[in-house]
Amino acid sequence: MKGISTKAVHVGQDPDPSFGDVIPPIHLSSTFAQSAPGEHRGFDYSRAGNPTRARYEACLAALENGDHAFAFASGLAASDAVIRTLQPGDHVLCSYDVYGGTFRLFERILKNQNIEFSFTDLTDFAALEHAVQSNTRFIWIETPTNPLLKIVDIRTTAEFAKSRSIKLAVDNTFATPVFQRPLELGAAVVIHSVTKYLNGHSDIIGGAVICNDAELAEQVGFIQFAAGAVQAPFDCYLAHRGIKTLAVRMQCHQASALQIAEFLEGHAKVETVLYPGLPSHPQHELASAQMDGYSGMLSFYLKGDLDDATQVLKDTRLFSLAESLGGVESLIEHPAIMTHASLPAEVRESLGIADSLIRLSVGIEDVDDLIEDLDRALG
Ligand SMILES: *Cc1c(COP(=O)(O)O)cnc(C)c1O
Repeated sequence: MKGISTKAVHVGQDPDPSFGDVIPPIHLSSTFAQSAPGEHRGFDYSRAGNPTRARYEACLAALENGDHAFAFASGLAASDAVIRTLQPGDHVLCSYDVYGGTFRLFERILKNQNIEFSFTDLTDFAALEHAVQSNTRFIWIETPTNPLLKIVDIRTTAEFAKSRSIKLAVDNTFATPVFQRPLELGAAVVIHSVTKYLNGHSDIIGGAVICNDAELAEQVGFIQFAAGAVQAPFDCYLAHRGIKTLAVRMQCHQASALQIAEFLEGHAKVETVLYPGLPSHPQHELASAQMDGYSGMLSFYLKGDLDDATQVLKDTRLFSLAESLGGVESLIEHPAIMTHASLPAEVRESLGIADSLIRLSVGIEDVDDLIEDLDRALG
């Protein structure tokens, strides 16, 4: 099995041996009967392991071409588990425009456990070389970034990290393994907010850690078991079900996003469109080299101020005004007030998260309807 669509449909989906169910049943049980003390059929307690979770984790690993995958109760629980493999005094060098919740987790919780964090523009290789420290253990990136859709060169960053015995961690939520497989490009570990594209239907919160490194896998697996932020069986089932259509959804998300990006680029009320699939994107070439597609997220600066942006956000009908992304339904949001409110105002400003910036998560509705909706709201 090589193709990602085939893996998405088949890995972890062998018919159940009891009745041959083509769709394996959900194993909700918290505990499993033992025939003698310590003798069981592979599972003893569902925090440690659960058949439904195990099937889903096998599929997650296959999608990213990884050897090990761990399902967590949220994307942030997944990131938390990766950082918890560190020791006090260790340092993490992180992209300065990571997801707001990741920034909050690092700065307000994990920093207090004496893990050191610094935040730098990791699209700039000189800045990366300058910011790395002798105690750096992880370089932590997102690419494309949120909400500015900048691209970090995974291969170059991974090579640099390896030369210093540092692990490169890539949050692959925006691209998904359909369009980008960081482990193949040299990353040590991939993190997902499964809440977004992988599940794809905006009806669960979930996270995942995927890696090839056996030692890191053992540590993350132990943290999953011992700290217990596991994904519940029913949510594993839903995410695994959602993944079956991941590849077709992603193709649709990106085809429509490109059409919308082109429409917005030609619109009189729009200043700039940020979408890696547009030839006008400053890193379009790098995006094309490391990605197989550009996904369904795009941002744009309106010609106008906060009031104008607010009007557009209130006036769309198909695009729901909501945080999150990656579902089949289109969403529109205001990063400065909504998703990126946890960043200090001066950080937001220095990044370019202005009051006129609007972010879209393009769903799988008919693109003509989406364009009509935006056109009316912009008018
Ligand atoms: C949403 C998101 C997260 C956090 O995931 P949760 O499932 O909400 O905990 C992390 N990284 C990125 C890029 C995200 O979009």
